Amino acid sequence: MAEFDFDLFVIGAGSGGVRAGRMAAAMGVRVAVAEDRYLGGTCVNVGCVPKKLYVYASHYADDFNDARGFGWQSGRPEFDWATLRDNKTTEISRLNGIYRNLLVNAGCTLIDGRARIVDAHTVEVAGKRYRSERILVATGGWPFVPDFPGREHVITSNEVFDLETFPQRVVVVGGGYIAVEFAGIFAGLGATTHQLYRRDLFLRGFDREVREFVAEEMRKKEVDLRFNSDVERIEKRGDGSLAVHLEDGGVLEADCVLYATGRVPNVEGLGLENLAVRQRDNGALIVNDQLQTDEPSVYAIGDVIDRVQLTPVALAEGMALVRSLYGEGSAKVDYELIPTAVFCQPNIGTVGLTEEQARERHGEVDVYVSNFRALKHTLSGSDERTLMKMIVDPVTDRVLGVHMVGAEAGEIIQGIAVALKAGATKAVFDATIGIHPSAAEEFVTMR
Ligand code: FAD
Ligand code: NDP
Repeated sequence: MAEFDFDLFVIGAGSGGVRAGRMAAAMGVRVAVAEDRYLGGTCVNVGCVPKKLYVYASHYADDFNDARGFGWQSGRPEFDWATLRDNKTTEISRLNGIYRNLLVNAGCTLIDGRARIVDAHTVEVAGKRYRSERILVATGGWPFVPDFPGREHVITSNEVFDLETFPQRVVVVGGGYIAVEFAGIFAGLGATTHQLYRRDLFLRGFDREVREFVAEEMRKKEVDLRFNSDVERIEKRGDGSLAVHLEDGGVLEADCVLYATGRVPNVEGLGLENLAVRQRDNGALIVNDQLQTDEPSVYAIGDVIDRVQLTPVALAEGMALVRSLYGEGSAKVDYELIPTAVFCQPNIGTVGLTEEQARERHGEVDVYVSNFRALKHTLSGSDERTLMKMIVDPVTDRVLGVHMVGAEAGEIIQGIAVALKAGATKAVFDATIGIHPSAAEEFVTMR
């Protein structure tokens, strides 16, 4: 043991690295955590947390309108981007401090700087080498932007939170989580918003009916959705504005073009060439079901292994790994029935199989759908609708998938995920008494 400076050297203080480092240190393990940008990683600094704050901000546009039907009379308030951005930055700085305290108080040694692996037991940061019995790679991901003329004029989710001025005309490219969420944010905050997606319907992988429903709702909120559409080139004009030339010959004028075309594992300069590890084509580290690479002393968790790019999954992997290395049990993570939300407006909340996946795996399935106007909107005058959907295996009565698009869908689906994890049947849902009046009660009254 004495030959090592540390028992565990964690590279990256993001969701997975912080959780693993803290937990191991609390168990008496000698832990180092190296971080080169920001404590808390993507989620805290340029991901989940600021994103959700901006979603709240943009939703006020609807709230002010909705309030009128309930008797509130006032002029339309003005939105000030600098206030939102700077308040966000203050809150994120507070969180950075909390993460620092969490790590230090748990007993971790924090090392500032970009880490490079020298060999299976050695990591170098800022010219100094550290020896460790084990190394944990938790370096996360990085936005991917395809190559095309004018690529240098676009921004990614790394930059979008801190724009100097609020863009009045925005083009969002991509059809995944980030693109859909930011199209909603920009439209809500008052920008003329176009979203381009290269295939026929965005949110590939989600339930088709959900995808169609979200498209309809986003169009109601004045997002100009363009499917089967992609960028050919982007030109910067003398006045700083951007001309976005589309493959179909059209041109969109924009102040900001946000590319949200996926994220790739962050492995550049990490020194993986010094190890006997394997990587997928996109750079993702290949690990076994114990989260161990082919190099026995090197482990990896979170977005860098690109299994499921979600914070709670990185946390679960970090905890499972530490338990298995320094406590008891296996590091095997259960990836079944991971609930997820897309914070578009209204939100998507989903757990389990889509209707398409369920039919493919189970043949015939029972599908229950409810599509309605929420009680609130009978007075608000809003034409927003809610979609709820449940997919059931008729042979076993097991609920295979539950999907929702509507206010607080993310909050509602978290509880439903517990039921599915417990193996709930449709009969159990039916035997559960509803909470009235709520949207969620639909899930126990679907017949
Ligand atoms: P990260 O959190 O990315 O942390 C990796 C850390 O490693 C970073 O701090 C990085 O600076 C550091 N690092 C990298 N290389 C080195 C090196 N060589 N040396 C030292 N340090 C290094 N997930 C959700 O569950 N819900 C959401 O609502 C959600 N919203 C998102 C919104 C956006 C805009 C984005 C981009 C992502 C969002 N995600 C969301 C995904 C979530 O942020 C990631 O899945 C999660 O952060 C992955 O955690 P991680 O620990 O693997 O990596
Ligand atoms: P996603 O993988 O979700 O979506 C990427 C999108 O970009 C897809 O629509 C994809 O199209 C499109 N795309 C990929 N390459 C190109 C290209 N060359 N040209 C044009 N379009 C392209 O990635 P995101 O960047 O949105 O987010 C990364 C991950 O972060 C998410 O997958 C998710 O796991 C996580 N995240 C989670 C959130 C949450 O939990 N609420 C919020 C934000 C992010 P196609 O469908 O054709 O492949």
